[in-house]
This record gives sequence, C-alpha cells and structure tokens, in this order.
Amino acid sequence: MFDINRKLIEEFSGDTVYKRGLKCYENKQVKSIDVDVIDRLNGKIAEINSVVKSSESNKEYRVFIRFRDKATFIQSDCDCPYWGYMCKHAVATLIKFIDEKEVILKDVEEKRNREFINNIKNNLLDKSNILPKIYLNTSYKLQIDSEHESGTSI
Ligand SMILES: [Zn+2]
Repeated sequence: MFDINRKLIEEFSGDTVYKRGLKCYENKQVKSIDVDVIDRLNGKIAEINSVVKSSESNKEYRVFIRFRDKATFIQSDCDCPYWGYMCKHAVATLIKFIDEKEVILKDVEEKRNREFINNIKNNLLDKSNILPKIYLNTSYKLQIDSEHESGTSI
C-alpha cells in the first residue's frame, strides 16, 4: 500500500529541497505525524498532518500532504514562507512516512478497527434505548384493545 519512495520525493521536490528536507528529518525536526487513510472505489488516499520544527528558530510549521495509492501527484501545503511546490518540511514528513510506513499504517488500521467497534457499540446502545419505548407503546395499545373488547361483550 502507498507506492512511494525517497527517489520519487526527490523527483517531486528537486535536489536542493530534498537534501534540506532529509537534513530536517535526520535532525528529528518532525515533531508529530498523523496519518489518515481514506478508501475510495479507485484506491486509497493518504492524508498526512505533521508538525515540523523550523531549522532556524523555535517556530513550528504545520504540513498537510495528500496523495493516492499510486503517488503520481502529491498535494503539499505548509505554512512556512517557502513559496515553491514542495518545501523541506513536507519532504522531511514524507521521508518519515516512508521510513515508518509499516508501523504508521498498522496504527491507522488499529485506530479504524477501534472506531468501527465503537460505532457498533454506540448503535447497540441507541437501539436498547429505543426498544423499551416500543414495548411500552405496544402493551398500552393492547390494553386499550382488550378494554374495548370487554366493552362490546357486555
Ligand atoms: Zn514548509
């Protein structure tokens, strides 16, 4: 899943930005990385949100990256001043994703499974709240019917 590698990132970002991004990654400037996987009929989409520390100051930049299973195009946004297509913070984030892909995707899978189970639990709880009401309504209706019947028999 997610056919993406360092060489591809280098092609997208260009040699200079790639080298700077690699340095950011090696200096452990990527503080957090949060990955979401979205299922589409024609494949999966990865959405990455990360926080990367600036190389020059204590500032932190927020990065958003989005790409498909076959990463033919990588959408990349960062709130740093760099105006090019892909900045070094995005490169650092992507290298971290590639290096830790197995662990990250396993975490995403576990998170999704937990959410799935919680949804089922919540649905069951909702239904158990509705059921007694239906039961009460039915018994009430039956009572009226039996009264009505006994009324006509007199
Ligand atoms: Zn940036």
